Amino acid sequence: MSEQLLKIASKFGSPLYVYDSETIINQYNRLTKAFSKVKNLKVNYAVKALSNISILKLFKSLGSGLDTVSIQEVQLGLKAGFNPEDIIYTPNGVSLEEIENVAKLGVQINIDNLSILEQFGTKHPNIPVCIRINPHVMAGGNTNISVGHIDSKFGISIHQIPLLLRIVENTKMNINGIHMHTGSDILDIDVFLYASEILFETAKQFKNLEFIDFGSGFKVPYKEGDIETNIEELGKKLTHRFNEFCKTYGKELTLAFEPGKFLVSQSGVFLAKVNVVKQTTSTVFAQIDSGFNHLIRPMLYGSQHEIINITNPSGRERFYSIVGYICETDTFANNRRINEIKEGDILCFKNAGAYCFTMASNYNSRYRPAEVLIHNGKPNLIRKRETFEDILQNQVEISI
Ligand SMILES: *Cc1c(COP(=O)(O)O)cnc(C)c1O
Repeated sequence: MSEQLLKIASKFGSPLYVYDSETIINQYNRLTKAFSKVKNLKVNYAVKALSNISILKLFKSLGSGLDTVSIQEVQLGLKAGFNPEDIIYTPNGVSLEEIENVAKLGVQINIDNLSILEQFGTKHPNIPVCIRINPHVMAGGNTNISVGHIDSKFGISIHQIPLLLRIVENTKMNINGIHMHTGSDILDIDVFLYASEILFETAKQFKNLEFIDFGSGFKVPYKEGDIETNIEELGKKLTHRFNEFCKTYGKELTLAFEPGKFLVSQSGVFLAKVNVVKQTTSTVFAQIDSGFNHLIRPMLYGSQHEIINITNPSGRERFYSIVGYICETDTFANNRRINEIKEGDILCFKNAGAYCFTMASNYNSRYRPAEVLIHNGKPNLIRKRETFEDILQNQVEISI
């Protein structure tokens, strides 16, 4: 793998994101296999994790649907060839106008607040709507990404179900789906199952459901010792409960999921070149040709991406702090044991498929990285490196 990545870095330059389609396909198959005893299963890949159109086409080829959070993601999905019926739109805090525009495209709408629900239902009682419930279950691994708890901005609180039912009755709108997304990291399957029970209880109050969407939050390991969501065990337990629920509900519903991280995180690596090795009195810094403008997760969430020196994979291990070239603190790793680093070496950051490129910016007026997809064993450029024209693209120069 190191050999191939080095070749790719020398061909396409650095910094560079590289994804491997085989890993994505394996994760997709793992998930569908874990739920193979559910008659109607729908996996909607969460576009915001990695939104390159070639990646979306790969998901289309697997039979996946899409989970989107903006009209632009919807448009990307349509451009990638998805049918509108295979896209669900789960925004938070967007305008009624944007929701109406997405509904016009034939995409499944998911509404997460009572105000918009009432306005939408009054104007468009015939357009089926899914509702996002907040079961107030704390399932996340990090306070920034735990969205189910009591003071979260996401979803309609289960304590407001009576209000919700009144809106549905008054507007005669059609609720065809019920949804939750409790947080980005499921560490404990029992917590997830507990939230699911709340969703089932709520579901009983709606007579025309077609699907129940359990969101996502499947955890993947970032560093040694990290827990990974046991999909196989979750599959067994939730399948049992879901099939039981369908019997009492009197209808074979569709079970939907919308994972992002689980499907793409491990498929990606980020490659960057070491510009400077800087020895201070206390620390050895390796400074790469990148920064939090290209990979913000360590600075934003404290995420620990494993870093390997693929130029010298069997060199003597030493301690390094890996930092970037941005003119403020941008630390990727503090005093990490890494095989000896020399200027010019290529470092490989693992688990860089999800929420990495999609969160990249032009801070410090740097170009965003290029992206490569290894498909059928061959590397394909799927996004060109930016150029100076891209930096100037939308700037308007006035005479001063
Ligand atoms: C971000 C998001 C997801 C995907 O979460 P992961 O942790 O990447 O699996 C799913 N559903 C909704 C509504 C989201 O906002």
